[in-house]
Amino acid sequence: MTRGICKNRVGERYGSVTVTSRAPNDRSNNARWLVKCDCGNEVTLLANNLKRTKFCGKGCELYTAHKRNDVTGQRFGRLIAVEAVGKKGRHTEWFFNCDCGNEYKGVSTHVISGSVKSCGCLGIQSRIKHGKSHTREYKTERYQAYTNAKRRATPTGVQDREVLEIYKNARNLTKETGVLHEVDHKIPLQGEFVSGLHVAANLQILTRHQNRKKSRSYEI
Ligand SMILES: [Zn+2]
Ligand SMILES: [Zn+2]
Repeated sequence: MTRGICKNRVGERYGSVTVTSRAPNDRSNNARWLVKCDCGNEVTLLANNLKRTKFCGKGCELYTAHKRNDVTGQRFGRLIAVEAVGKKGRHTEWFFNCDCGNEYKGVSTHVISGSVKSCGCLGIQSRIKHGKSHTREYKTERYQAYTNAKRRATPTGVQDREVLEIYKNARNLTKETGVLHEVDHKIPLQGEFVSGLHVAANLQILTRHQNRKKSRSYEI
């Protein structure tokens, strides 16, 4: 039972909700948090229930969509569902955008269950053994910081169509040219002085080479 002072959970993600601020304790003095759901709803949840939270409630649009097996716009690890592309046996195949800029086509159930978390790039990185910067812990920590920054920088909480379109263009360019293209934030999300937004206007397509050369700094 959590009473009185408890760990600051602002910014943490549980399923589709992000903790925004502390809410007054309930009548039995249990800690509660105000959370914002990707569907737009804001609700108050008991701190003890956060870990089990997937949606803001029974009335959640995303929950309804989830029950219909529609995962459009939802994030699973590095993957964001774009659209259903067809059937594979009894299952529905989906197109996903991976944070690395690649796309992934696969059965949604594998992604929802968590057995697939990326286009494959996560597996490659976690197999690299040499050097501390390649340890799973290090990668996960840095990646987590990056995705949190991206989430904070996404005004609506859900990626809009324009953003998805840019990722699609990058994939097409990769396909057409054979050179790996990535989507880059012109103003970095985790810049030292200014932080950019995860919106279409702040995105540009670069080749992987150009992108690696670009530093995290941004001239103000
Ligand atoms: Zn919701
Ligand atoms: Zn990837």
